Amino acid sequence: MLDRFNRHINYLRISVTDRCNLRCRYCMPEEGIQLIKHEDILSYDEITSFTRIAVASGITKVRITGGEPLVRKNITALVSMIASIDGVADLSMTTNGVLLAEYARSLADAGLMRVNVSLDTLNHEKFNYITRGGQIENVLKGIEAAQEAGLTPVKINCVIKTSPDEDDAVSVAEYGMKHGLDVRFIREMDLAGGRFSVVHGGAGGHCAKCNRLRLTPEGIVKPCLFNDAGFRIREMGAEEAIKQALNAKPECGTINNQNGFYNIGG
Ligand code: SF4
Repeated sequence: MLDRFNRHINYLRISVTDRCNLRCRYCMPEEGIQLIKHEDILSYDEITSFTRIAVASGITKVRITGGEPLVRKNITALVSMIASIDGVADLSMTTNGVLLAEYARSLADAGLMRVNVSLDTLNHEKFNYITRGGQIENVLKGIEAAQEAGLTPVKINCVIKTSPDEDDAVSVAEYGMKHGLDVRFIREMDLAGGRFSVVHGGAGGHCAKCNRLRLTPEGIVKPCLFNDAGFRIREMGAEEAIKQALNAKPECGTINNQNGFYNIGG
């Protein structure tokens, strides 16, 4: 489908939960967040039927995000439901990797094609500090398990302050080279402050080429990460929400005061 600026919209990012098993400093406050009530979170049937309609409208690429998608109960069931929709040519997931060693094989069996794993440093203490308690060993094991399960290419999302020449970024790049991983550098963003930039080594953040819509855990279709507009599928139905989101897609992002990265899969 084409938006008002003739951009070809074929990519849907589905945030399946606002919950996470880490507390990264740039993403969540230490005390956690006001969680969405369970009854307000879309069921797997609702997500699947929305995706089916989105695919019929022209979506071909689907990414499952969070929060942390692997903390949602029985996530492999959702993967297999989405994988069985005719027309999904690319099905991927963005994860912090903490539970990936446990899930990689069953995700691949369910039809997941590939994963992006967040990794900002290779320094164990620093990882523990940034994530407020995470153990990097779990993530490294998860990456290995993803490769063994064929969830490739495994891509690494590395958040940087300003430049890929920072020490942590350089060590992540070296680790990527050694292990055959695609590393992409993402500058730390600020939704409310409107600070975003192009992803080094990947897509995203380039408004003129933007091809995406988002679905939040409570069923709001968002036309843009840096925009307050959103359309509720439970109230207006999937088709209308997609149509309105397409019409509301801005030429370029500005600010988003309605969401945090933890509930929009930023
Ligand atoms: S800011 Fe909005 S329009 Fe620009 S690339 Fe991000 S999602 Fe697309």
